[in-house]
Parts: sequence; structure tokens; C-alpha cells
Amino acid sequence: MNSKSSDRRSGRFVSPGERLGVIEEFIADAGTYVEDGVIYSKVIGRALLNFLNKRVSVYPLVHGVRVPKTGSMVLGQVSRVQKQNAFVRIHKIGENQLSGFFSGILHVSDVQLRYVDSMFNVCKPVDIIRAKVISEKNGTYHLSTKDRNLGVVYAFCSQCGYMLELRRQRMVCSKCGKIERRKTALDYGKGVIA
Ligand SMILES: [Zn+2]
Repeated sequence: MNSKSSDRRSGRFVSPGERLGVIEEFIADAGTYVEDGVIYSKVIGRALLNFLNKRVSVYPLVHGVRVPKTGSMVLGQVSRVQKQNAFVRIHKIGENQLSGFFSGILHVSDVQLRYVDSMFNVCKPVDIIRAKVISEKNGTYHLSTKDRNLGVVYAFCSQCGYMLELRRQRMVCSKCGKIERRKTALDYGKGVIA
């Protein structure tokens, strides 16, 4: 047994995107999805690992409205940015705060109607972003910010971490003076993120 064996208790709490095992050892059942041979949880719930029939499933603890659907408005935190994509941890669906998070991805072509060269000018890790779910595949929610109300609602200086102020289309750090770029929502810095 490897060092991860202690995590592999049946009944442990899991959130979407959490690794459950690999396809060589288990058959992926309800509430799971497979990516590159690895089985992940698709929902928030309890992992059920059946070592007899080699099946892994997740018993959902959260039902109905608390799962993003195509068209859902979501709020999340940017976790990683590449030139073409930003990865978002969705913490809120509509008005519902989640106990875990869902994985979302924002592609450079879904940022706005006008051409965007690089995601580095759209958002940065730790930023809070509001988006719409446009599709779902393998437990990853594809997001769009093609609306004036959508985009970054809180942004933080990549140099010092201080919140950026929006001054005449420019994002300025009032602490260190750094100027950055974002695709902001119309109510940037005004909304309440509970
Ligand atoms: Zn700064």
C-alpha cells in the first residue's frame, strides 16, 4: 500500500475534482468522471469505495440548485492563468455559497466580443471573477464573461497583493503604484462577496 492509503477511506468527504483512484483499480461509477485514467469526484459528497466489486462512486450530499448548470451565474476565484485559459474555483452559484468548489475554465475566446490576445490581461490568480456557465464536460464548467456585468469583480496587485483600484479604465495599486490590466465587470469593487 502506498502512503495515500490512509485517504482512501470509504465515506470520506470529497468535493468536485478530488482524486478517487485510477481506472486500473476501480470502475468509475455514479458521481465520478475519468480524465487521463484518473477517477475524480464530480459532486460534493461521500466517496464510496467498494473493494469487492472494484467500484468507486460518490454519494451526493448537495442536490438540485447547488450544482452549476449551463446558464448559471457563478462567482469564483482565479487559481491559475495561462495564455489561453484561466482556471477558476467556483464558490458560489447564483446566491448559493458552496462548501466546496467546482472547477471552471475561461478560454481566451469567451472573455469578450472583441479580440483578446492573452489571458494575462484578463485576470490573475486570487482575483474574484463573475461568469456565466456556457457548457459542462467531465466535471469542468466552461465559463464566459461576454457581458458588461461579467468579469473580474475584485483584483489584487500581482506585486504586493493589495486590492487594485479601477481608475479611468486602468487598474492601479494604491500601495505600490503598479498598473495592471483586467477584464472587469461593470460593478468592479462595489459588489458584496459573502
Ligand atoms: Zn501593489
